[in-house]
Amino acid sequence: MILSDYHMHTSFSDDSEATMASMIKRSIELGFHTICFTDHMDLDFPIEFGGGFIFNTDIYSRHVERLREKYADQITVLCGVEYGLRPYLKEQFHTLTKKNNFDFIIGSSHLVGNIDPYQKEYWEGITEEDGITKYLEAIYANVQAYDDFDVYGHIDYAVRYAPNQNKNYSYAKYADIIDAIFTTLIQKGKGIEVNTAGYKYGLGHPHPQTDILKRYKELGGEIITIGSDAHKPEHIGYEFAKVEELLRSIGFEYYTIFEKRKAEFIAL
Ligand SMILES: [Zn+2]
Ligand SMILES: [Zn+2]
Repeated sequence: MILSDYHMHTSFSDDSEATMASMIKRSIELGFHTICFTDHMDLDFPIEFGGGFIFNTDIYSRHVERLREKYADQITVLCGVEYGLRPYLKEQFHTLTKKNNFDFIIGSSHLVGNIDPYQKEYWEGITEEDGITKYLEAIYANVQAYDDFDVYGHIDYAVRYAPNQNKNYSYAKYADIIDAIFTTLIQKGKGIEVNTAGYKYGLGHPHPQTDILKRYKELGGEIITIGSDAHKPEHIGYEFAKVEELLRSIGFEYYTIFEKRKAEFIAL
């Protein structure tokens, strides 16, 4: 059983109101062994879409530390972060990484240029295929530019918001760019996450979806963390049993947890 959730948000993220304590209590109820907070750090998020998505890392780390100690005999609580990467922010993110002792860093793409595929405008005036390709190209630019992360988050996040979601989406259709992303990640010793929020958005798959996970394995990808991307306590561990079965059926034998940025492999 997967008893570690490596992607969750709290009120340190602008899109969550959950207290850290409420997330920890729910995780203990579920019998989880380890959780890692990964609040949003999206530097230079466009003002026209609300700005924000940043937090004070000193206060954050102190909060996590206090709760880590308080609940130490019941659960391991780790301090991670989800970076919203774009290539020109490389130096700023690097400084942030050096300054903080995060246990785990998810690198994610939330913006293509200055717009989030979550916004309807993103899909206006382009074909669905171009919208998805541009999103995957934005990931590729980030994985080439950055080393300040451990796994890449929700690889096909854009299909959540595509006009037909994942109905016309497949590995085969985007093979070249997906292979380029995975090859670079694997060469750099980085992994991916399996993000179960895909099920929540009605895709019938996690992010990335099954055929893409298969390809990651084929190319030699081994590092996989599991995260619910919960923004509320009730979504912690969302569909973890389903994803465990899926990973086994693809041939994965291990998933990965991180502490102090060091990977440890756990049998599935
Ligand atoms: Zn994200
Ligand atoms: Zn997230």
